[in-house]
Amino acid sequence: MSGEAVTSEAAPVYATPRILLIPSLEVFSVIDLASYYDRFIKGRGYTGVVLPLVETTGVYFDYRVTVDGSRQVVTGNAVRMLSTSSGTQKVEYIGLHQIIRRLTDLAGQTDPLSIYFSVHVDLPQFAHDSASSIADQSGFTSARACINKATTLQHLEALFRGAFGQETPASERVIDPVDVAGIVLYAGDLWPVSGAGGRFQLTCFCEECAEQLSRKNVGKDWFKKTPNPANLALAEMEDDREAVSGYLPVRDLEADLDPEDIIDRCAQVANTLAYNATRGKSDGKMQVSAQELMTLARQLKAYLTAKSTLSQEALKRVFREARKVADRELHAILLVEAEPYLWTTGIFFKDLVTMADSVDEVWLPVHPMSTPVGMPKTRAILASRACYFVYSFVINLNIHLPAFKATRMGTMPFEERQQMLRHGKDQVLSELPQKLVGLALPATMAAAKDAVVVGLDAEIIDRLIENALGAEETHSPQSPAE
Ligand SMILES: [Zn+2]
Repeated sequence: MSGEAVTSEAAPVYATPRILLIPSLEVFSVIDLASYYDRFIKGRGYTGVVLPLVETTGVYFDYRVTVDGSRQVVTGNAVRMLSTSSGTQKVEYIGLHQIIRRLTDLAGQTDPLSIYFSVHVDLPQFAHDSASSIADQSGFTSARACINKATTLQHLEALFRGAFGQETPASERVIDPVDVAGIVLYAGDLWPVSGAGGRFQLTCFCEECAEQLSRKNVGKDWFKKTPNPANLALAEMEDDREAVSGYLPVRDLEADLDPEDIIDRCAQVANTLAYNATRGKSDGKMQVSAQELMTLARQLKAYLTAKSTLSQEALKRVFREARKVADRELHAILLVEAEPYLWTTGIFFKDLVTMADSVDEVWLPVHPMSTPVGMPKTRAILASRACYFVYSFVINLNIHLPAFKATRMGTMPFEERQQMLRHGKDQVLSELPQKLVGLALPATMAAAKDAVVVGLDAEIIDRLIENALGAEETHSPQSPAE
């Protein structure tokens, strides 16, 4: 050591994996539970595991729901599970409660695992009831549920009741509410955005959303014309053949920006309306005056602000419902990306602070932003877009399963389905870290280092794809063994 002053540099912060997230119970159809445990959990010091309470294909337990005034029993699917006994592999059909029992048995008393449930509110599962569907500004609906709708909340409540309701008889529920460590709400993809030909479709403008937006002085009609406020902040992306291949949103829109600042931010992204207008470029139909530009920016700000309030309230309602059903203060966890404005979650990042009265933890991918004062406890989720590609792969995989495929994918050629799933695999692998040991986090995430990891790898994904594509002729629906 020389006598010179040494710059004091904080020691690097390393992620410490603590919780394993299992995105789909389908994994147990390609690897038996004991082997999965050995591969992903054993000896790693995990304290908890996240299991999906609901998937694209439905749920793995029975529950009661009231539709149009009549009470119906929804029969849960069985998990098609591979098991090995005395060296031979067989297939069993079991329920979610059995998966939990076996997992906790394997963990034993020495390394007990807490059970978290993940909930994906926008799954088509809820939207089989068209009263739950999202709609864009032109009234086109999609088979996805709007979290803001009363019917979606009713479905969720029924689901919570069936899974861990305090008043549900113990023999009928999946788990005792005192054994639920928390509810993880995946809010990374609540509001899909799409665009082509400069026309951006935003969701949701269903009757309930439109009504609540209009009470906050946001007009649905603003978004029906061209150009509209969305054109300021969204730009079309073209692939190398110059075909429109998606859109690029301006993400660094903070809650406290003035309309002038919004125009400046949007003008930094090539091909947004603001970019073209401030550079005097136009294609004729998108010509706007400086005054019109300001009006659009004011409207955009009003929309983003109102949408953020609405989305926060909707998310809070879900947690409130889960806690009411469990009759206890379940740990409420939000899983989101980390950007100043989260387009597909519909909230400003800073507004997570104002959710601290309802949310106990926020799980965020590794990001460089500083954590605002007053933020709930944070954890790093070691998936770059907060599981966006993981969940999109799982949804695609599930809709290729034989039970589902008949209605949705029946006409898509095998090669195309194979290609789609392989592409999904590449996206998932690009989202997950190469290694979990020695993964350095930015200093701003020191408090979030007790991390969450996804329980998938390339080999499991390959087997899942093979299974989804290969099993189509041989599958017949089964009920749980018990
Ligand atoms: Zn809606």
